Amino acid sequence: MIEKVDLHCHSSTSDGDLSPTELILRAREQCVTSLALTDHDSTAGLAEAQQAADSAGIHFIPGIELSANWNRQCFHIVGLNINPDSPSLQEGTRKLQSIRIERAERIALKLEKKKITGALTAVSEQVGKGMITRTHFAHFLLTQNHVSSMQQAFDRYLGKGKPAFVATQWAELEIVIQWIKEAGGVAVLAHPMRYKLTASWMKRLLTAFSDMGGQGIEVVSGRYNPDEIHRAALYARQFNLAGSMGSDFHTPKNPWIELGRLAQLPNDVPPVWGLFT
Ligand code: AMP
Ligand code: MN
Ligand code: MN
Ligand code: MN
Repeated sequence: MIEKVDLHCHSSTSDGDLSPTELILRAREQCVTSLALTDHDSTAGLAEAQQAADSAGIHFIPGIELSANWNRQCFHIVGLNINPDSPSLQEGTRKLQSIRIERAERIALKLEKKKITGALTAVSEQVGKGMITRTHFAHFLLTQNHVSSMQQAFDRYLGKGKPAFVATQWAELEIVIQWIKEAGGVAVLAHPMRYKLTASWMKRLLTAFSDMGGQGIEVVSGRYNPDEIHRAALYARQFNLAGSMGSDFHTPKNPWIELGRLAQLPNDVPPVWGLFT
């Protein structure tokens, strides 16, 4: 059987549209054989997903996508094959959740200054106990007709430098990698090409990441073109990092991204799942 691996996606526990069970059912429809659920700063969907995956006959890898700061910039670190019950990871996600709640309050205040009211109540109701993300604010702005697309919500209000952007101090990169390692997982730099770093900054980042115990880099992501895959593979080889692949699927409404629909990992990059124990 041909393996179809997807090690990065989101459920309604963070900013995905599908519940963990619905996500697994969709993965089965798409003939995915191995799936990692990697919600933003949360492990709350993993138990449900594991159960659904067991019933569906999909190999499930517990994961997370953690928000980290390095050099005052935000980077996303995917933790794969983690133990969700790890005490340090649990404490870490609690910390990040309170940072997210505080940030949401500040985003809502900034929107009020732009005469947009009711955002905090609306997003809080929408997420319940899940993580509040900017995706939820974008969705609010869209449904209230303040913008005409999710992209426009980021371009006009929520993106870096826009009126409702709140610079956030997440956890330091070194700490985040430590949480993942203490949970028995593998730390992977998510979507490296999305940070728009110059080659020399990317090298500094990967040197630091690797020194801190980071072991993988996403070489194939849902939105990569062949040139980006080639560049990411070069970084993997240069820094001795294992290669990961993940769609970063959030919603069936985005026709460009589907669970498991990914280019192949280049042959000369060792796959990250070789590190799972
Ligand atoms: P947060 O972690 O709360 O800052 O939210 C970041 C999330 O917003 C990302 O994981 C994406 O899902 C989403 N996002 C960021 N930029 C955009 C964009 N330009 N268009 C649509 N969604 C975006
Ligand atoms: Mn997201
Ligand atoms: Mn991300
Ligand atoms: Mn993601």
